[in-house]
Amino acid sequence: MTNAYIQGLAQLLDAPKKIAIIPHRSPDGDAMGSTLALYHFLRKGGHTPVVIAPNEFPEFLAWLPDSETVLVYEKDKENVARILQEQELIFTLDFNALHRTGEMEHVLAKLTAPFVMIDHHERPDGYAQLTYSDTAFGSTCEMVYNVIVGLGKRDWIDKTIATCIYTGILTDSGSFKFPKTTGTTHRIVAELIDLGVDNSEIPALLYDNGSFDSLQLLGRALQNMKVFPEFGISYTTLSQAELDAHHYAKGDTEGIVNYGLSIKGITFTAIFIEHTDEKIIKISFRSQGAFDVNQFARDHFNGGGHINAAGGKSTQTLAETVARFERIVREYHPNLQKQVS
Ligand code: 5GP
Ligand code: MN
Repeated sequence: MTNAYIQGLAQLLDAPKKIAIIPHRSPDGDAMGSTLALYHFLRKGGHTPVVIAPNEFPEFLAWLPDSETVLVYEKDKENVARILQEQELIFTLDFNALHRTGEMEHVLAKLTAPFVMIDHHERPDGYAQLTYSDTAFGSTCEMVYNVIVGLGKRDWIDKTIATCIYTGILTDSGSFKFPKTTGTTHRIVAELIDLGVDNSEIPALLYDNGSFDSLQLLGRALQNMKVFPEFGISYTTLSQAELDAHHYAKGDTEGIVNYGLSIKGITFTAIFIEHTDEKIIKISFRSQGAFDVNQFARDHFNGGGHINAAGGKSTQTLAETVARFERIVREYHPNLQKQVS
């Protein structure tokens, strides 16, 4: 974060403004935690912020403070588009390319208000007047903490803001174990706990709050898993029929992909999930070590993300998509072996 960024931001915030704060489509804990943390912070500064999500956020995040104020573009497009046009400043958090907001991209692209980016994904687009983009961070929430401290307002961080920030750090770091978790991350978390964050209730709200159906769906995905020990690869699938059979609700597939890495010797895994309503196969990729799934997702599946966690999509059928993945993996094989060994 440069001095110019902080000075520019301080200037943009020097008088009360109407401010939209936008997470990516299908927002996760970091997207919702960071946008709501900033929302509470901006309210303290006398602004009128509103979090506008491109589509619905999962139920397991609905306890986040003031999540009930979040507007959902895909539920009420015309009205939310009109509200967006009234905003004087737009923050985009936890993504760096407008297409990550889905259909809302077309509304955002026409706005004349300045954009401010806070994000930790690879290769930011250039749409923002102020860009704080750094892939060294494990979460956007940690960056929001830095922005608040950078603006000289550390003492504005109360239990509510701390709770939002803690949630994104926790979820995006895989409960503090992914490689970008630093001593600084832990020092920030310690400070948040001292501010009253309930560090045993929040993980329970996030992870011990599922339905029997969603656990059965995880079981289905584990049964569907294919393992290629010779490549160090595993993958699994969930068809629309399997989602339907377990009364799928948004968020039910969160985290399933990670089980593919829990097998000894597996360093690259994927999950392919069929969404017939959107006519796409949504894909998540995860790796351990040097294999760059961001690049893999960009090269082959119209996606992106981070080196060890990325996503993508396919408009082919589930069977065709998986067959293509297997073909690509076989072609990659020598390369993969080199990168993971
Ligand atoms: P997930 O697999 O949990 O959906 O996403 C893993 C990471 O990749 C997240 O940081 C997410 O924001 C990013 N990501 C997921 N899908 C896409 C995509 O289609 N395009 C890009 N650029 N990033 C994605
Ligand atoms: Mn994130």
